[in-house]
Amino acid sequence: MNINFTYIPGDGIGPEVGDAAMTVLEAMTAKFGHSLEAEFHLVGGAAIDAKGEPLPAETFDSCKRTGAILLGAVGGPKWDHLKGADRPELGSLLPLRKNLNLYANIRPCKPFPALIDKAPLKRERLEGTDFVVMRELTGGIYFGDKGRDESGAFDVCRYSESEVRRIAVKAFDLAMTRKKKVTSVDKSNVLETSRLWREVVIEVAKDYPEVEVEHLLVDAMTMHMLTYAQDYDVILTENMFGDILTDEASVLCGSMGVIPSASVSDGKTGMYEPIHGSAPDIAGQGKANPLAMILSAAWMLRLSFGLDKEAAAIECAVEAALEARQTTGDLGGKLNTSDVGDWIARNV
Ligand code: ATP
Ligand code: MG
Repeated sequence: MNINFTYIPGDGIGPEVGDAAMTVLEAMTAKFGHSLEAEFHLVGGAAIDAKGEPLPAETFDSCKRTGAILLGAVGGPKWDHLKGADRPELGSLLPLRKNLNLYANIRPCKPFPALIDKAPLKRERLEGTDFVVMRELTGGIYFGDKGRDESGAFDVCRYSESEVRRIAVKAFDLAMTRKKKVTSVDKSNVLETSRLWREVVIEVAKDYPEVEVEHLLVDAMTMHMLTYAQDYDVILTENMFGDILTDEASVLCGSMGVIPSASVSDGKTGMYEPIHGSAPDIAGQGKANPLAMILSAAWMLRLSFGLDKEAAAIECAVEAALEARQTTGDLGGKLNTSDVGDWIARNV
């Protein structure tokens, strides 16, 4: 198969972890007899510096054409003085998500056995944890009207029934391929959007009689997630709650540097990126852990190209690297970013 995708290394450590992921993808294509056609493009700070805008038209066109995007990280202190849509993040990531209709953000939470003792929670609390957060990504308070008036400031939170329905369907479909449980998280004791959310989820659930459903308030969920992590399968929630809960979930996995994410639409369009940011404090030093980026590339193979075996081969090599302690300093190893990429490439 010709694997044609848009490769956007981005800012900070993005290009470093991106190089490592590309090395692994090349090794995978050689092994499985595919060909790789990466379209290299700029977004965020790198695009502002080179083209004067955070999301150049040619970048967007490539993303739209390939429908598969591998992204490193966006932003950094160099561009902190910019405002609103001139900022790297607001000017590139949000419009990309919205215009490509990437309404479902998926983040796994399954601690690697080799890292279980690095998490701040006790082993008994973590063993067997294997859930996925399905976060709505193109609606809610992040996209509502915002502004200032005489009395202060406001952000409007809005959800349509169809926006809730399509993300709920994604969550139930995913649960059917897993442990068949959906935990829907809202704040329906206070918010009207949450009341609609809960009504629609209850309705969608009727089409999935095999799936166990529970509804939890978000404040309770922040506690339950760390206390009963093993109980969950698919956690379904709206944009802002999902933003907060996914960062909380990353604590269970021991390190930010190992967690990939996928933002997907209907069909095979998807954007794949590590959950960590551009890490300006370590950029350019070869210290960045490339595992999250490498695992994001594996997800791209699986979700946008249907290449399950190839994705699994990369995931196994990542696990082997962790077991063999062939890691960067954040995980206690001695390798630099590209050494880790090379080791995994050899072991795909
Ligand atoms: P952003 O606003 O882009 O999300 P941030 O400052 O909020 O940036 P990160 O860039 O994710 O967050 O960095 C948080 C901390 O984690 C930093 O100290 C950084 O060095 C560290 N870190 C992030 N990613 C990695 C990685 N891949 N390998 C090693 N350390 C990392
Ligand atoms: Mg951050």
